[in-house]
Amino acid sequence: MKFRCVRQVALGVGLLLVGQSLAGQEPGGRSAPTRPSSLSRVEVPPPTPRANKSVAAPAVPAPAGRKQATTPRFPDPEWVNITTAARRLGLKLDWKVRGREALLTDKATRLEVAADRIEVDLNGQRIFLGQALLPRGGELFVTKIDLERCLVPLVRPALIGNVKRRPQVIVIDPGHGGPDKGMINERLNLFEKTFTLDTSQRLKKILEARGWKVVLTRNDDRQLKPSKADDLRRRAEIADEVEADVFVSIHFNAVEDQVEKVRGLEVFRFTPQHQPPISRAMRRLDDAQLSPGNGNDAWNSLLAHSIQNAMLTRLKLEDRGFKHERFAVLRLVSCPAVLIEGGFMSNMSEAKQIATPAYRQRLAEAIADGLSDYRSTLEKLGPAGKAATP
Ligand SMILES: [Zn+2]
Repeated sequence: MKFRCVRQVALGVGLLLVGQSLAGQEPGGRSAPTRPSSLSRVEVPPPTPRANKSVAAPAVPAPAGRKQATTPRFPDPEWVNITTAARRLGLKLDWKVRGREALLTDKATRLEVAADRIEVDLNGQRIFLGQALLPRGGELFVTKIDLERCLVPLVRPALIGNVKRRPQVIVIDPGHGGPDKGMINERLNLFEKTFTLDTSQRLKKILEARGWKVVLTRNDDRQLKPSKADDLRRRAEIADEVEADVFVSIHFNAVEDQVEKVRGLEVFRFTPQHQPPISRAMRRLDDAQLSPGNGNDAWNSLLAHSIQNAMLTRLKLEDRGFKHERFAVLRLVSCPAVLIEGGFMSNMSEAKQIATPAYRQRLAEAIADGLSDYRSTLEKLGPAGKAATP
């Protein structure tokens, strides 16, 4: 059995090339980005968070006019201790292991966090943060980015801020097309591009019946532009042209190794500024680049989790997690956006399932339910300018 991906494009961004375009990065053109959940991130030297202060001091800027050492400096992340984070989330904190493992709860929420891990468990679902929690002095610390742009949106969406308007226009992006077949299962003669289009067309019908205005980035077997970078850019442009409230890119995944073991569903949001994407353990200088997709970090998280939750509830497949990557197609979109991996074509039983119209219909219904949940959450937060403040 062999799987080919015809879209792998090197990222081509050097360590020191801050600000260079990431347009060459591909959605899905990679092996599965999940690292073992117990793997800790090797970070630049973390600050030692100080007692009585939830946020570490920012890096001291270099004196002007002096030649600097060649070692690049990363901006230090701001860290919030878990006691402060629990208060912000309105959750009760209990230590399972003091300074190492904590449980944050209320009637509807059970959030488990642990030292040196980027994966947290929220109501039984796998959520991948941007940086591992740090144990220091009998406390645990989470980055302010992970607290405000991931955990707050998932647990207390009312704290995100103003809702621009009720979501009504959605762009659905069937991944790949034309000469770009996406993932290929040669043994079963299956192409990802066929299933992304069919699932998207099914999703369009369901959403239109629920009152959404739906635009597909492609409605037949074609590539939007001759070059892959331009093709991905065009998909994002369409969302801007129709003033979309939501952008959903549909894909199916594959891995080269452990094909019988790796299966399940993944939902990706765009990686926040200053964090490494989940496929890379180390931070890099170009992580500091601010992209249009970062304008909606918190909404991206809420949207991704709404869809993850609905897919897992409805499809009962393995939870590969709520993740983040710096995918080109998400980078350029200026409305809340997610990329869904609706199963693994490299897993024979899952590939056979994906090949059935019944599965793709159920997948489309699950995604539609997630979008309905996202919309009703926003409706509860109130109209534009009337949202709750932290
Ligand atoms: Zn794909």
